[in-house]
Amino acid sequence: MSVKEIFETMEYGPAPEAAAPGLAWIQERTPFNLFINNQWVKPASGQYIDSINPATGKRLAQVAAATSADVDAAVAAARAAFETWSKAPGHVRARYIYAIARHIQKHARLLAVLESLDNGKPIRETRDIDIPLVARHFYYHAGWAQLMESELPGYQSVGVVGQIIPWNFPLLMLAWKIAPALAMGNTVVLKPARYTSLTALKFAEIVQEIGLPPGVVNILTGEASQVGEALVQHPGINKIAFTGSTDVGRSIRRATAGSGKKLSLELGGKSPFIVFDDADLDSVVEGVVDAIWFNQGQVCCAGSRLLVQENIADRLIEKLRERMEHLRIGDPLDKAVDIGAIVSPGQLKEIQRLVNTGVEEGAVMWQPSWACPTEGYFFPPTLFTNVSPATTIAQVEIFGPVLVSMTFRTPAEAVELANNTRYGLAASVWSENINLALDVAPKLKAGTVWINCTNLFDATSGFGGYRESGFGREGGKEGLYEYVRPKWETLEAPAKEFHIAGESASTNGSKPAVSADEDREFEGGEQLLDGYTPMLPAIDRTPKMFIGGKQTRPDSGYSRDVYDPQGQVIGQVGEGNRKDIRNAVEAAHAAGGWAAGTTHNRAQILYYIAENLSVREDEFARRIVQQTGRSYADAAAEVQAAISRLFSYAAWADKYEGAVHRPPLRGVALAMPEAIGVIGMACPEEYPLLGFVSLVAPAIAMGNTIVVIPSQVAPLSATDCYQVLETSDLPAGVVNIVTGDRDLLSQVLAEHDDVDAMWYFGPAEGCKRVELASAGNMKRTWVSYGHPRDWMDTVQGEGEEFLREATQVKNVWVPYGE
Ligand code: NAD
Ligand code: MN
Repeated sequence: MSVKEIFETMEYGPAPEAAAPGLAWIQERTPFNLFINNQWVKPASGQYIDSINPATGKRLAQVAAATSADVDAAVAAARAAFETWSKAPGHVRARYIYAIARHIQKHARLLAVLESLDNGKPIRETRDIDIPLVARHFYYHAGWAQLMESELPGYQSVGVVGQIIPWNFPLLMLAWKIAPALAMGNTVVLKPARYTSLTALKFAEIVQEIGLPPGVVNILTGEASQVGEALVQHPGINKIAFTGSTDVGRSIRRATAGSGKKLSLELGGKSPFIVFDDADLDSVVEGVVDAIWFNQGQVCCAGSRLLVQENIADRLIEKLRERMEHLRIGDPLDKAVDIGAIVSPGQLKEIQRLVNTGVEEGAVMWQPSWACPTEGYFFPPTLFTNVSPATTIAQVEIFGPVLVSMTFRTPAEAVELANNTRYGLAASVWSENINLALDVAPKLKAGTVWINCTNLFDATSGFGGYRESGFGREGGKEGLYEYVRPKWETLEAPAKEFHIAGESASTNGSKPAVSADEDREFEGGEQLLDGYTPMLPAIDRTPKMFIGGKQTRPDSGYSRDVYDPQGQVIGQVGEGNRKDIRNAVEAAHAAGGWAAGTTHNRAQILYYIAENLSVREDEFARRIVQQTGRSYADAAAEVQAAISRLFSYAAWADKYEGAVHRPPLRGVALAMPEAIGVIGMACPEEYPLLGFVSLVAPAIAMGNTIVVIPSQVAPLSATDCYQVLETSDLPAGVVNIVTGDRDLLSQVLAEHDDVDAMWYFGPAEGCKRVELASAGNMKRTWVSYGHPRDWMDTVQGEGEEFLREATQVKNVWVPYGE
């Protein structure tokens, strides 16, 4: 071919990256063993499994198949290492993590080649995206190790962490897991995905090379049913960090329920890619290529639903098809290839199955005219039009190079369509009108929103889901909290004793210092009633439910008695049931506008509540005495603490701010703490007023609406708050109160699909039930595991921990420049 001909066709020649160094590295080592305590250890089973090259379908290597005996050994090593690693000064940990980053850069090309060979992704991506981001992640977290003591003073390491990762970004997911864990002083046992273990094993060599203390990082290859499940079940593990599918995430939520293990889940997605009619369509086309054909579409946050404003839809689809015709598919090691191989034959079949379903459901499928290589597992870029929102391909994560497109007319319709999914991982918004884009971003239920860009990642910026995309963040300061816990948690339990009705009824015989309600209701009326007082029935003050701003009768028509510590009935409250909870959740939803109001307004209302409570301080103190038998002074202190707590959250309402992250690009990522939505909560039994206020105040300060179950044994302090709330300008439905059986009502809340988070402060058994029931819609849970918390203490009873539980961080990426 002459130069002239080449110039005329502008065809790409092959530009292969050499496979030889990667293959040689593999040949010298295969079969690979397990990495435990910085040693290469044969698997107890003696079994090995194949790792294949998806671009050829041929065997690349054999890796060990670990079983639970190996998991025991690795956890023991990590446990032993934890003692010293967690106590090492931050600077020491920073030095090791920094060394890892340096060595990743030194071996960058080998890692990139291994990743492409093992996973099938184009070398252009492993070389320019995966591996540089891996190094970046370790550098960034070396910094947090250095700063932990000064920047997270109230926190300590969690312990041994079990980490389970998927195959789509094998080394990058390892980095997202290991870097923050190590920085915060934890030790880890990591399981790579079955198909893609090789770069994790190269990483293990780096761990040895830099002399990381033995046991800090352990890597176990093998099958999910062996290694994965054993990690999840292991009693020596303090936290599970998982990235993978929503179904497996749900099973892990159930398996760890009640175990006290901390849990973070990064799950699937079906992310919207929203294009308004004023967007720059050429940029949009390149954005779509990045959104859905990057990594063959095997990206959890892939922009897999293209939502286009109707008037430009035809033009955009036309341009897209034209661009798809020019995408290049083939050998992942060819530097001029856009699309590589699908990771496994099973995955390829699943993509084909879902595409067939799309066609059967009546959508219009389009693929470019060229053919895929026949050797290996390839699937062409695919575009569906004429898709209706309720169909399978519009709802299910395909995890392949398949884009479905739908149209909308107005911004409101775009938001509705975008949020019409059970997922909430990411979204991107395309418009030259920045006002429109920034107005839409907060309305999208997604952990990351990219404005005029897509699939940008950086260690500075937390990544993670809303809804069934999971909970927890990876990256940014927000991600560090997944790997620490408050220092006070390991302190001695508070020595205080509480009298709870029923339990102490027979042992405590003395009369409470304050007379019962009935007596006081007639105070001052004695002359008027002229000696009849003892004979008249008390004026009935049976509190009802508080739902949608109204006092409503319990659906059951039953009341339950409330006792004092002597076992005397001191009042009645409604016996709430399933229906009351449903009504309350509906009311809480209807009050969703609360989050959109100003923080100033929320602060004001919290101050009003405090003010109105302080007017009735004495009455509230007496009520506490009556229910608990504690001294008046003690009860008055509780009321004071509740008033102070309300002031704290009124203060926080407009001060709990996000961050402006500085990723390495011309632009910013705005990390915004947002309300979670509807939170269900079961209050602690002790401190009938303070326990209630301690949960309610942070939740509503952050813009959530709530359904609260007051202390079951001492609910009257909460029900006395109705009038306080009614007179404080709190909009109807923001706080809903349902009295009754705590565990029965909690169960209904935890199972409810329209409840976004559930807090439960009660016995360990109840905590377990709440965690189990929450798996339905993967709602966030915050439970006490039966551990005591000193509610009077401002370190344990209020502050950042509460605010963090009441919010989720959304990162909005806004690049600058023309
Ligand atoms: P997967 O859920 O099948 O497997 C993920 C990991 O979990 C693997 O290591 C697997 O061996 C292990 N595993 C499977 N069953 C297990 C069990 N019962 N107990 C313990 N461990 C078990 O997911 P996958 O097919 O490897 O990855 C694709 C999925 O991951 C997609 O749904 C994708 O959206 C998701 N993903 C999410 C993110 C994110 O950050 N949110 C990132 C990448 C991938
Ligand atoms: Mn492989």
